[in-house]
Amino acid sequence: AHEGILRRQAQRESAARTYARSLPIVPVRARGMTIEGADGRRYLDCLSGAGTLALGHNHPVVLEAIRKVIDSGAPLHVLDLATPVKDAFTTELFATLPRELADDARVQFCGPAGTDAVEAAFKLVRAATGRDGLLAFTGAYHGMTAGALAASGGATDVRVTRLPFPQTYRCPFGTGGERGAEIAARWTEHLLDDPKGGVPAPGAMIVEPVQGEGGVNPAPDSWLRRMRDITRDRSIALIADEVQTGVGRTGAFWAVEHSGVVPDVMVLSKAIGGSLPLAVIVYRSGLDLWQPGAHAGTFRGNQLAMAAGSATLAYVRENRLAERAGTLGARMIAQLQALAADHPSIGDVRGRGLMIGIELVDPEAAPADVNAENGCAPPPDPALAAAVQRECLRRGLIVELGGRHSAVVRLLPPLTLTDEQATAVVDRLADALRAAER
Ligand code: PMP
Repeated sequence: AHEGILRRQAQRESAARTYARSLPIVPVRARGMTIEGADGRRYLDCLSGAGTLALGHNHPVVLEAIRKVIDSGAPLHVLDLATPVKDAFTTELFATLPRELADDARVQFCGPAGTDAVEAAFKLVRAATGRDGLLAFTGAYHGMTAGALAASGGATDVRVTRLPFPQTYRCPFGTGGERGAEIAARWTEHLLDDPKGGVPAPGAMIVEPVQGEGGVNPAPDSWLRRMRDITRDRSIALIADEVQTGVGRTGAFWAVEHSGVVPDVMVLSKAIGGSLPLAVIVYRSGLDLWQPGAHAGTFRGNQLAMAAGSATLAYVRENRLAERAGTLGARMIAQLQALAADHPSIGDVRGRGLMIGIELVDPEAAPADVNAENGCAPPPDPALAAAVQRECLRRGLIVELGGRHSAVVRLLPPLTLTDEQATAVVDRLADALRAAER
């Protein structure tokens, strides 16, 4: 079955698929962090539906919540109508929000995918401010629909101004840390305030507190606070895209909490649906200026996703899984940094909580940027990263690649992984790296 399914899928499915091509497995059963393939092999899953599975696969509280809705005879599809299931989800969601936002929040259900919620956020802000300009960052990823894509990639057919995202490694300003963050903030101020070269007043700035697909780049807290001040002073709405960082993954329930920044709009998806499709925006009520009917869609009322989502949010909150993600993640990062000390091919290990990136480089090659102040970082090594991913899979570990050059190995384990599983992840990865380097 295994080989046949893979062969037929390769023939019939679009060539646009990416990671599925480098992960030739056919999952048939899953529980917690473990996936079992049609070939009987078992894997530790550090992909977790691209960060969706906060509680891992088929967590009992999630299954129970779904069964309860089905057994109750409640309708599974009522478009956008009010239901007890939706009411419970909204209550649970608001209980998790930063206080300042929760006291004054509106929610808009947006559709199944994160990219739907990103589009909704753009439309909302345009309606509220009358301005269609948007500020986004290098390395950003917000989705695959036209507006979200414009804010993410290079070429744009929507008017987006791209600002450099400060990084500690390969920082566009040649210097990481606080200093890089300060230069980035001043650069943004200059761009907005320069009457000649400046940008026509944008309606919004969209930022990921930790860039995920862009290669796991955590935004410095001080920089995020500066972005909050800069946007507030100029009446620009600050949109936090917490699609991947949300629900405890980075060590706080929402990643903006690390900095104390309260955005005007939060874009939420992935883990909020407890492994089923759900996406919402929450925003300050003062922005709720769009007309009735301005944003509609058929699939915005997924009852099973709301039930699975409520159960997930409550479980993460009650069991303080954000805190656990913070401590366990810090331990894994420290272990990987120790590994890096023996492996010059590890250019950088970074992350926040259980959102971890290992950037692989070619230490023998000429530096990527000789002008860079931060140690003339060697160039990224996508071939090595792909080899590590393959070797991980051979050792029963599923990892994803990310970053502009696909040279960053990404770890997004469920927040429920055990200490033993965390150790196994690091051990298998270290083994895979040694094999790939040969
Ligand atoms: N924003 C961020 C930060 C994401 O990581 C993603 C998905 N990886 C999206 C938006 C888009 O979500 P979706 O794939 O569900 O459309």
